[in-house]
Amino acid sequence: MAQKNTFKGNKQSLPSKPCKTCGRDMTWRKAWAKNWEQVLYCSDACRKNKSPTPP
Ligand SMILES: [Zn+2]
Repeated sequence: MAQKNTFKGNKQSLPSKPCKTCGRDMTWRKAWAKNWEQVLYCSDACRKNKSPTPP
């Protein structure tokens, strides 16, 4: 007898991806639900740092 509905231990696995600037893993946030694919930076600071001035 095969049980098809084995639904246990299913932890919430939220997507995550590294910040473009600092490389730290940022976990999916509800606020990013609408534009998760466009979120590249973990914070405003990193967003401003996206184009570092060359020396
Ligand atoms: Zn960052």
